[in-house]
Amino acid sequence: MAKIKMKNPIVEMDGDEMTRVIWKDIKKELLEPYIDLNLDYYDLSIENRNNTYDEVTIDSAKAVARHHIGVKCATITANEDRVKEFNLNKIYPSPNATIRAYLDGVMFREPIIFDCLNILIPTWKEPIAIARHSFGDIYVSKALNVKKGDELTVSINGEDKYSYKPDYDAIFLTQYNKVKSIEDFAHVSFKYAISKNMNLIFSTKDTVVLGYDSVFKEIFNETYKEYKDEFEKRGLNYHYYLIDNAIAQIMKSKGNILWALKNYDGDVMSDMISAVYGSLSLMESSIIGNGTYLYEAAHGTVTDHYRRYQKGEIPSTNSVALIFTWASGIEKRGQLDGNKELEDFGVKLKKSVRDTIESGFITGDLISSYNKSEYVKVNYLEFIEKVKEFLDKLI
Ligand code: NAD
Repeated sequence: MAKIKMKNPIVEMDGDEMTRVIWKDIKKELLEPYIDLNLDYYDLSIENRNNTYDEVTIDSAKAVARHHIGVKCATITANEDRVKEFNLNKIYPSPNATIRAYLDGVMFREPIIFDCLNILIPTWKEPIAIARHSFGDIYVSKALNVKKGDELTVSINGEDKYSYKPDYDAIFLTQYNKVKSIEDFAHVSFKYAISKNMNLIFSTKDTVVLGYDSVFKEIFNETYKEYKDEFEKRGLNYHYYLIDNAIAQIMKSKGNILWALKNYDGDVMSDMISAVYGSLSLMESSIIGNGTYLYEAAHGTVTDHYRRYQKGEIPSTNSVALIFTWASGIEKRGQLDGNKELEDFGVKLKKSVRDTIESGFITGDLISSYNKSEYVKVNYLEFIEKVKEFLDKLI
């Protein structure tokens, strides 16, 4: 069988520990036999980030901006312990934060759901995905201490706009966002909802944070006008809700909702959504900017499994989100290049993962939520082999 050709490259960001091991096996077993891979490779292992003084991270983000599509393996975020373990020059920032800041995109988190796996809220039959604006607000804030009797003045070009003179010791916070970034956030969210046929909810606290959250609201409502026809054609809804009301609506829903949130709200709610859908290994993550698509798994490098792997065990690590990472990158490359064969391969790869789990071949983390009577617990290599068997049947 002739291999599928790829005209333009996908940026590959390799990672650390257990996910690096699995990443390599996914490539070897599930991609290389079928596709003439065209990859722009960056090694984001902690050793190579250290050796390149973290230049490799920014180079990889630039490559995504150039080629439009990237797939990222999980990477270690350095801390004091990791500095000792790897004899690092310093504590480098999280690669995800560096890449996110460069691409200035929206972070999406979407659960991969299966009928055979129970979730905490059984009425959420369909996915609830999060679109988190990944720029600004409290993440660029500056805090100030203001002492009793101090006078703090906010001015623009020397013109005083606001003055604060407390008769108590106080703390003060400034934060900002960029109008263009909010506009991009809105466009990317509407486009994602359309591409996934999902309803869209956007929520803030505009009744309290007047002149700030209300700007987000106005931008979303205004941007919707451009997508209204397409939404109506597909029978989809868009709603703006105050965040407290949005939570009530979402709790009562059946799912199939993309919930767009400001930076902090998105940070908090993505973990809540992950917890409801169960395993982190069944959660896709992507950063989508103006024409750039970076896919990854939501989980980390699974250090505890790696320690056992180093001692010779083949752990039962769940590779679903990592396989989906590759599949989404390949599917999107196919779409952007008008390469139907490549796009279909990405779809088939996801389907073969579903077939494997629905047929009862599961990794250890899924046993407690599996609702069919019979299953076989497999290690990560056996799981990939099973996916390959199902993939071969589809191709
Ligand atoms: P983790 O996601 O690797 O693991 C958390 C827990 O979930 C562990 O008990 C682990 O066994 C389990 N788990 C996670 N993914 C699993 C999978 N695919 N199959 C089975 N079990 C799975 O997070 P952590 O332990 O907090 O962090 C480990 C390393 O990963 C750290 O160095 C951290 O900096 C890094 N990290 C990276 C990313 C990223 O690159 N996006 C995200 C989070 C953490």
